[in-house]
Amino acid sequence: MFNFFRLRDSKLSTRATWLFAGGLLVIMGGSLCVLSLFFLHSITQIEQDNISHSNQQARETISLKLNDMATRSMDWAYWDEAYQLLTQGDSEFATRNLTADSLRTNDVDLMAFLDRQGQLREAVTLSASGVDIQPLATRRWQELNASEALGGRLTFLRQRPDMDTKPISGIIALQGEPYLIAVTPVLNSLYQGPVAGWMIWGKRIRAFFPFQFQRILATDAQLLPVQLSSRPGEQTPTSVGEIEIRTHADRIQASSPLRDLNHHVVGIIQVTAKRTLHQGAQLSLLVLFVLNLLGSLLLLLLFLRLFRKHVSERFNLLENGIKQLVQANWTTQLQIEGQDEISLASKIINQLVESKQLSRLALEEIEQKFAALYDNATVGILMVHDHHILNLNDTALHMLGYEQQSELLGKPFSELFAPPSPQERYSLARFTQMLTLGHRMVEWEFVGHSGWRVPCELNLASLAHTGDPGWLITIRDITDRRNSESKIKRLSLYDNLTGLLNRHQLQALLQGDLDRRGSDTSYFALLYIDIAHFKNINDIFGHTTGDQLLREIAARLSRHLGEQILARVAGDEFVLYLPHISDFYQPMRLASRIQAWIAEPFQQEESELAVSACLGIVIGGNEFTSAEDVLRCADYALNQSKLHPRQLKLFTRRMYQEALLSTLIKRDLAHAIRNDHLIAYFQPIVDAQSGSMVGIEALARWNHPEQGFISPGRFIPIAEEGNLILELGEKILLQACHLGQQLNQHRQTQGLSPLLIHVNLSARHFASPSLLPKLEETLRITQLPASQLAIEITESMLIESPRESIRRMQRIKQLGIHLALDDFGTGYSALNTLCQYPIDVVKLDRSFVLRLMEGKQGELLVRAIINMARDLGLDIIAEGVETQAQQQRLSALGIREIQGFYYYRPMSPDALLALEQSSD
Ligand code: C2E
Ligand code: CA
Ligand code: CA
Repeated sequence: MFNFFRLRDSKLSTRATWLFAGGLLVIMGGSLCVLSLFFLHSITQIEQDNISHSNQQARETISLKLNDMATRSMDWAYWDEAYQLLTQGDSEFATRNLTADSLRTNDVDLMAFLDRQGQLREAVTLSASGVDIQPLATRRWQELNASEALGGRLTFLRQRPDMDTKPISGIIALQGEPYLIAVTPVLNSLYQGPVAGWMIWGKRIRAFFPFQFQRILATDAQLLPVQLSSRPGEQTPTSVGEIEIRTHADRIQASSPLRDLNHHVVGIIQVTAKRTLHQGAQLSLLVLFVLNLLGSLLLLLLFLRLFRKHVSERFNLLENGIKQLVQANWTTQLQIEGQDEISLASKIINQLVESKQLSRLALEEIEQKFAALYDNATVGILMVHDHHILNLNDTALHMLGYEQQSELLGKPFSELFAPPSPQERYSLARFTQMLTLGHRMVEWEFVGHSGWRVPCELNLASLAHTGDPGWLITIRDITDRRNSESKIKRLSLYDNLTGLLNRHQLQALLQGDLDRRGSDTSYFALLYIDIAHFKNINDIFGHTTGDQLLREIAARLSRHLGEQILARVAGDEFVLYLPHISDFYQPMRLASRIQAWIAEPFQQEESELAVSACLGIVIGGNEFTSAEDVLRCADYALNQSKLHPRQLKLFTRRMYQEALLSTLIKRDLAHAIRNDHLIAYFQPIVDAQSGSMVGIEALARWNHPEQGFISPGRFIPIAEEGNLILELGEKILLQACHLGQQLNQHRQTQGLSPLLIHVNLSARHFASPSLLPKLEETLRITQLPASQLAIEITESMLIESPRESIRRMQRIKQLGIHLALDDFGTGYSALNTLCQYPIDVVKLDRSFVLRLMEGKQGELLVRAIINMARDLGLDIIAEGVETQAQQQRLSALGIREIQGFYYYRPMSPDALLALEQSSD
């Protein structure tokens, strides 16, 4: 309902739907109403006809009864006994004939006999119960004989007695009750007159009517008294002749007056019928209504479905279209609330017309601006349509060197392209490919009018129109940019001062070669040339002279070296790169010649200038992977060459790496010592005869986090360069004494003789004044008896100041510590030097053991040493024994104590403790 009232505001589709539905219902409802009105009217008509007919019928039954009574009365009237009664009198007549039975048989309740004089001879009535008979009361007879009843007729009959022999019958009112009355002249059985009198028969209508006819009467009939026939306030009846019809909702009644012989109304015959027809019709109509309503609803739904399918969707499309239009940018805001599609559409059309006019004006303005821009643009503009030149501005025309537009208009666009090079750089195919790849800014080369190339930067905007490819192309001449780019490129490749390759370029070149080498086994060389003391020249003669000198050196070298690869890599540093060398001497020879070329004096205005060059040479193969490595190596070699008398130094990668490792060790050693990264390993010394351990030697080990295990041969010399060797030595000494004490304590409990703990000392450490106190302190701290410690020193340490050394050795010995002479046989001294030192043990160097195996000579030497040592009362330990053969040879010579891989390699303290434990 609410929606219905808002119909005005609703959408067109909704409105159409509702209006259609409403119309359909009104038509259906209207026609049904008219139909039912006519139908019910006709039904009422039929009912009225029927009821009036019934009323007639009811009346007819009374008439029939009356006629029947009159006819039957004649039997009695023409009976002789009745004749006799009236003519002669018969006192027995009544007893004989006027019985209740005979009255009932004749279906009357009154019988009276009247003679010609009007004297009542006999008169009886049936009692109210209908069982007994009784004489007619005088009051009743008077009433009957009254003029408004039968009186008038009877008088008339008496006056002309023989005129009528036919009975007179009709209705009269007796005591307000209607009666059937038949007055029959009594004749003899021959029907001959004169009339003896008259016989009167009467029957109370109410006694038979209506029940006696109930079966034959179609309706409910009633005899009503006169005064009850019409009640005030009742519906005005319809009259059909004398019949009045009253129509009620549930029943219909018809009443007609019952008149007596004197035409007075004595009662009302009323028939009533149920309005079954009418009610049936009403029910049918109701059913019809309901069915119709359902049908209409069904039809409506069907219609709505079809409507929605075929019409409403279109409406919706229209509506959405309109909404979208409404949402478009209008110059004035459209009011869409409360508007249907049609009114909106009309508004939009108005708006469109309006905005089209505005657009045309704007378009004209844009066209003018565009034309101005197009013609006066500083960039060239070219319009291409379907691969042909559609238009171009003057800037583009002049850029390409043409005079007239007509020279180019309509020509294929590709005619402007530079002729295809072998790489198809500027072909039409490539141009189209770039476009399909979505490039909208490209660098391109056009061919100008006289054939010169015009490098351009193109900016493409699509003008696609009705499917044909179209482009608006702005063109910028980039010749200047290209020129400066190549200049920058040149600058970035070459050294500005000398025109030689610069460092960057050399490095790139070298790297390229290294990358390509692969399995190439040839060698390359890099000569790093440095002008000695160039800084002085700069300082004394000024930078201009310095620059001039560098230029001349470059020129001189270039002249001699020709096409070879020469670069200036720093101020006064040059590099000659030889990608392939025939032998190692080639770069060396070349280096000498370079030195000679540079050494030739340079003419400097009126004076001469002489300089020299240092050279670092790197010879490398495919072990190098990075150019930077090669250059750094060469730089390193150069620095070394400055210390070299010939100012020339050859370097290989291995040397370089060693140098690198040295630096690394220098950097990390101090830290490693302080943080106990250097620990003592121990190598057992074995008595070859018994196979049991007699001593151990502490050997320093460094597990470097990056380099892994570094041999003491590498870091000890470096530690010796600084004071670090003291720290290192003390740490190892402490560790060795500590472990030694543990071991020997354990051995003591096992009843084994103590091991001699050997500790190496470096020259510096040996010479250090703090050595003795430190030794004492260590022994005290570790509780190792001095007699279980042996200090190993080498001959070389003693040579510089033998006296001082001997004094020191003696002091150490005084503490109870053993002294061992390490590496015996590698030093400079002769055998006899042995005797001058206060030593306890001689450690034969590994080289002796090796020489022993070589032949007689070695054996003689070893034998001599052994003899001498024996003479001096020294113990001998053979070092570096690796094989059983060596061990056997040494044993044969009487050397029992042996140290070497043949028995044990140096091991960690834990490993040694485990070994000791296992041998228990
Ligand atoms: P060194 O004192 O002569 O020590 C003996 C060296 O020979 C050790 O080398 C040891 O591992 C090695 N060696 C032992 N048996 C064999 C064998 O059968 N065959 C071969 N080829 N070699 C064997 P390492 O440990 O590399 O020590 C090298 C040198 O470094 C030592 O020579 C010593 O001069 C020095 N050094 C080691 N530790 C210390 C230390 O704590 N202080 C000082 N000042 N120098 C030490
Ligand atoms: Ca040693
Ligand atoms: Ca040694």
